[in-house]
This record gives sequence, C-alpha cells and structure tokens, in this order.
Amino acid sequence: RAKDKGKRNYIFFEDEFKQHTLEKIQMESELRQAIQKQEFALYYQPQMKIETGKVKGFEALIRWIKEDGTMIPPDRFISVAEETGLMVPIGSWVVEEACRFINKLKEFGLDDIYVAVNISVVQLIQDNFAEKIEEIIEHTHVEPERLHIEITETMLMESIDVNIEKVEKIKEKGVKISLDDFGKGYSSLTYLKQLPINVLKIEKAFVDDILKDEKKNITGAIINLGHELSLEVVAEGVEEEGQLEYLKQCNCDLIQGYLFSRPIPEEEAIQFIQDRIK
Ligand code: C2E
Ligand code: MG
Ligand code: MG
Ligand code: MG
Repeated sequence: RAKDKGKRNYIFFEDEFKQHTLEKIQMESELRQAIQKQEFALYYQPQMKIETGKVKGFEALIRWIKEDGTMIPPDRFISVAEETGLMVPIGSWVVEEACRFINKLKEFGLDDIYVAVNISVVQLIQDNFAEKIEEIIEHTHVEPERLHIEITETMLMESIDVNIEKVEKIKEKGVKISLDDFGKGYSSLTYLKQLPINVLKIEKAFVDDILKDEKKNITGAIINLGHELSLEVVAEGVEEEGQLEYLKQCNCDLIQGYLFSRPIPEEEAIQFIQDRIK
C-alpha cells in the first residue's frame, strides 16, 4: 500500500542519511590523522603558451596518499574538509608547499615559472586570509608574481564586497588571480568587468564542446571576451589535437590538459620542463 511504501522509503532515506553521516565522521577523523601524518602531496600540471609550447607555469592539485599507497582525489575529501574546518590548515599547507616548490624550481634555474594554487571559499572567508597569504610569501621569500591563486565566480558571490576586497589586496601585492571554471557560474558581464583578476580559465565543459558541438561552441567567444577585458585566457582539460587546433585559431593564450600531461609529482614536473628545453 502507498502508505507502507512511503514509510519504507522514509526508513531507507534515514538509513542512507545515517550512512552518509557515519562516512563523514569517519572521513573527518581520517583527515585529522592525515594532517598529522603529512599524507598530502601536491601534483603539478603544466600550463603551456599555445604559440611556442613553452611551459609558463603549473597548477598545483592536492592528492591524499594513504600509508598503503591508495591515492584519494580532491573531489572525495575537499567538501568534508570544508564542512569540518580542516580546509583552513590544509589550504595553508597547500600555499606553503607551492611556495616551497617555487623555490625548488629556482634552484634548477627555472625562476620565471609560476605555480597556481586552488583556494577554497572557506579559506577566503577567514578574516585574515589576505594577511595569511602575504605572510607565507614573506617567510618563503618567493616573488609574489610567481604565485597565482585560483578562485571561482561562486566564491565571490557570497558577501561579495568583503571577498573582492581581500582578493584585491592580494592582487596589489603582485600575486596573479585566475578565475577558475569560468562559464560554470552565473556572473553577469558587468560584474566580470569589475573583478580583480588577471586570468580567465575556461571551464573544461566548453573545451569538450569544441569538437562535439560546432555550432553552439562558445569557447571562441569566451576567449575574445577575456582579451577584450585584457585578461590572459587558459583552456583547461584539453585532451585532443582538434581542440588544440581550434584554440590556436582563436588565439587562446595558454593550454592545460591530458593531451600534454596529467598532474605529476614535482620531480617529474621539473623533468617535464627540462625535456622541453633540450
Ligand atoms: P580544478 O581546479 O578545476 O582542476 C582541474 C581538474 O581537472 C583537476 O582534477 C585536473 O586533474 C583535471 N584535469 C586536467 N586536465 C584534464 C583533462 O585533460 N581531462 C580531464 N578529464 N581532467 C583534467 P583534480 O586534480 O581531481 O581536482 C579536482 C578539483 O579539486 C579541482 O578542480 C579543484 O576544484 C579541487 N582542488 C584540487 N586541489 C585543490 C587544493 O589544493 N585546494 C582546493 N581548495 N581545491 C583543490
Ligand atoms: Mg583550478
Ligand atoms: Mg578548473
Ligand atoms: Mg573544477
């Protein structure tokens, strides 16, 4: 009967909810231990100038590597880290680690390469977010221009003025600001014009459309828009030669994707550049 069925569904939902909560609690305690045991690593994915193929920088992407060697991708733990406050210390570690890598690159004579880090909204809303970034730059002695931070449109939508001010403050120090996953959010063009950013990263979904949906492909339009606003444009998630060709025709500035390299550990990242210099 309908009533029973409804009840069963309810119980099922409750079980699922409990299950989900349990997993979250479990994950939270594992994450705390992971911080203590230093089980996080940054992998680096190269970004190349489209005209020359020369590596200009890397995007740092966090990985959680457990004792037994299993690697947990960020999509599996970032949201729990955000909900439990653990994203703040993890996020600071990411910036520190990226700055350490910038210095390491310098030791190899690679002193004009930048490293872009992803920032969580939970970090951005901290009162001392801008100061924290400045402090890390100062004590690691990196040139601010070598550090890029990636934010998203949606991150700037909440308590917008305060967040924009913080980003502006960091940008004034010389750190470059990238707008990640552009096109996925819902910012108006007027609004985009006012944002304190240097770089537009086109959301992978649009890059995927290049070969699939020729008539409705809007990647070219986004590139023109970025250039109109004096921004550099990065296409992410480039997987196929055909996409690369199209991006070249549209004068996209930088490219990133599996076609060139997956995110790789730092030794391999350094090797990747050295192989291309030869
Ligand atoms: P994102 O910042 O948009 O990063 C791009 C994602 O696309 C990365 O996944 C990257 O490995 C993947 N990718 C790059 N090229 C290709 C390609 O050609 N094909 C395909 N299929 N995928 C490609 P990843 O490393 O799993 O990271 C997922 C998301 O997790 C990131 O999206 C970012 O939002 C978040 N994330 C990663 N590291 C951090 C971090 O240190 N802090 C924060 N707050 N978030 C992070
Ligand atoms: Mg990113
Ligand atoms: Mg992205
Ligand atoms: Mg993304």
